[in-house]
Amino acid sequence: MGQRINVMGYRLTASKCLGLCLVLTFVMGCYLAALPIRYEKEALPNPVRQRITSKELPKKRLAVLVPFRDRFEELLEFVPHMYSFLNRQKIPFHIFIVQQKDNNRFNRASLINVGFKYSQKDYDYIAMHDVDLLPLNNNLKYDYPAAGPVHISSPQTHPKYHYDTFIGGILLVKREHYELVNGMSNNYWGWGLEDDEFYVRLKDAKLTVMRPSNITTGIDNTFRHIHDKTYRKRDMRKCFNQRDVTRRRDHQTGLHDVQYNLLNTHTVAVDGLNVTVLNVELLCDKSRTPWCQCPEPVKPVVKKSAGKK
Ligand code: UDP
Ligand code: MN
Repeated sequence: MGQRINVMGYRLTASKCLGLCLVLTFVMGCYLAALPIRYEKEALPNPVRQRITSKELPKKRLAVLVPFRDRFEELLEFVPHMYSFLNRQKIPFHIFIVQQKDNNRFNRASLINVGFKYSQKDYDYIAMHDVDLLPLNNNLKYDYPAAGPVHISSPQTHPKYHYDTFIGGILLVKREHYELVNGMSNNYWGWGLEDDEFYVRLKDAKLTVMRPSNITTGIDNTFRHIHDKTYRKRDMRKCFNQRDVTRRRDHQTGLHDVQYNLLNTHTVAVDGLNVTVLNVELLCDKSRTPWCQCPEPVKPVVKKSAGKK
């Protein structure tokens, strides 16, 4: 027979004690399972974990990828705004600030490729998101784009760009679709056209871009575009054969061959709200894309007239 144990004055056998433990474990388990699933006030950390119950499917997880350099003031507004906006929609998300640290010209598309690679294991879809474009209308839904990419900042509502095939600003793409089209081209150093090239990639892959419906706001009140063009100059220089190459669909480069070093990562809080900063050094193959650095324009030499002192 079992040994007798004294528990709080009661004399129990070891087998009764084991039984009691099992009952207590069961009761605790039931209690924990009955607790409601709560969406964090703050975004989910990386890697995110969600409890899966038999009743509901886990919600898809969104990585907000923000290509970034020298836009600190915009970032201070962006982070609290996006937390409030996405929490209202109960989207599990995390913000990744993909900061370009090399001294090449800004390359928005390559930074998005890097952000995607970093987050792809833990997240189901991405939002390519300009830091200076804040959604104001709560009917702009950032839900999982199962059927095809969803362009949030449509030409009907974007403050600046109004052509039909425009897909810049804010675009949601699920992981499988981003992989399917080999991400974005790495050829676009400097401002512009990388989003138009991505549109052709989606079209070639027979993916239809969808846009939010039931939006009754217009170009003045659907987004806030924090962009003063004299203070934040767009780098529209064109040098070498950049103009020719970047006007064509790129069948070579993309997600699979983006060249970079991830220098370090930081968790940074804005008003107590965490984001992950990826400090990225993009590598440029100057034999292929020499326009990653445009030479300074040659200043005309002003000759001093002789004989004057
Ligand atoms: N961007 C940046 N630093 C730069 C240029 C661009 O961080 O020097 C990022 C930023 O997220 C910005 C986005 O790229 O919102 C798009 O660039 P920009 O606002 O110049 O383009 P727009 O859509 O206003 O023409
Ligand atoms: Mn802008």
